[in-house]
Amino acid sequence: MAEKRLFCPEEKIREAAEQFGTPFHLYDERGIRRQARELLAAFAWAPGFREHYAVKALPNPYILEILREEGLGADCSSYAELLMAEAVGMRGAEICFTSNNTPAEEFAKALALGATVNLDDFSHIAFLEQNCGLPELLSFRYNPGAARGGGNAIIGRPEEAKYGMTHEQLLRAVEVCRAKGVQRFGLHTMIVSNELAADYIIGTATMMFELAVEIKDKLGVAVEFINLGGGLGLAYRPDEPDLDIAAVGKGIRREYERLLAPAGLGGVTLAMESGRLMTGPHGILVTRAVHTKNIYRHYIGVDACMAHLMRPAIYGAYHHITVLGKQTQPADHVYDVVGSLCENNDKFAVNRSLPEIQVGDLLAIHDTGAHGLTMGFNYNGKLRCQELLLQENGTLRRIRRSETMADLFATLDYPGLKTE
Ligand SMILES: *Cc1c(COP(=O)(O)O)cnc(C)c1O
Repeated sequence: MAEKRLFCPEEKIREAAEQFGTPFHLYDERGIRRQARELLAAFAWAPGFREHYAVKALPNPYILEILREEGLGADCSSYAELLMAEAVGMRGAEICFTSNNTPAEEFAKALALGATVNLDDFSHIAFLEQNCGLPELLSFRYNPGAARGGGNAIIGRPEEAKYGMTHEQLLRAVEVCRAKGVQRFGLHTMIVSNELAADYIIGTATMMFELAVEIKDKLGVAVEFINLGGGLGLAYRPDEPDLDIAAVGKGIRREYERLLAPAGLGGVTLAMESGRLMTGPHGILVTRAVHTKNIYRHYIGVDACMAHLMRPAIYGAYHHITVLGKQTQPADHVYDVVGSLCENNDKFAVNRSLPEIQVGDLLAIHDTGAHGLTMGFNYNGKLRCQELLLQENGTLRRIRRSETMADLFATLDYPGLKTE
């Protein structure tokens, strides 16, 4: 199989391992900035286009700060994510709050920041009204159900996914909210995850544009914006073609001009909530081989585990692995690369062909810049690792320290429980 390139010279990774110890996630500032610019360029034709970075993908304010400098806003779905967006100075329309099964205090915080609230369910209209009052602007999340195929293990098929309102509920939501005094409306959907086909994403835009036209025709309401959610795919496998972002922008423009402009909706602004593609390819998890084990299979035990990257364990997701210093050697050994949890799905790779690995080798697990460390848990008492940033000027900066036993036990006040 083809090899994935590292975003920096191998010596930089060795230097980071030397200075900070393993394991760590290493993020590439230059790549993150380039990616943000590429997405904005694809939608330069769309006046007022905004990318709200999905904070859950890499919730670290140092990263959000970089993205904000590039002109991105934030998509938050929890209290903590709102606090992070607030910390980097985001306010108002820069933030969209796309949550589900939402606690009242999260709605209140979102409204206090002036965020655009995107309601996941019809029942949330009354819930929001009772707990916070209705804002002047509301957005609604659409779930097309069986009307649209697609979906995958991450997000589920639309009719099986818990998100959004049915077609009928959504129209009713606009009607009811207008009667209650809401003056401005937006639409939202997110029905795919990790989609690599430009045509599918364009098809989602078509569906939403048709919905906006229907709302105008039936209810006389011109929505102000359409948020197409996240789901832009990352080519995790080295032999997969990258998503063509320019083609996505171009195709959506064609549909915008075909459907919205003639319906008198030429002023509608577009938004996205991409997380994965913005930072995912610009991060690696660096871990060291600490054991080799040969039974019915051959195992490489590394010093990282599910606490640092869960995607392979939860979704069976593929993450490419580069063994540092061995890129040109033949991949003639078949390994399971495993963590130390008492959980047999704690594996980064299963039956993977790799060059021969020795204890002490450094492994770079690719594409961990989104939905990586943040998904990690403390099961088995494993501590989550540090995050490092390779800055544009080539220097390393630690942007999150590793957890300690004191962090792990912080909520226990048991006398005599030691932290070392
Ligand atoms: C997770 C999520 C996103 C980001 O999805 P990506 O696959 O990371 O692009 C955007 N919007 C909502 C509502 C989400 O839940």
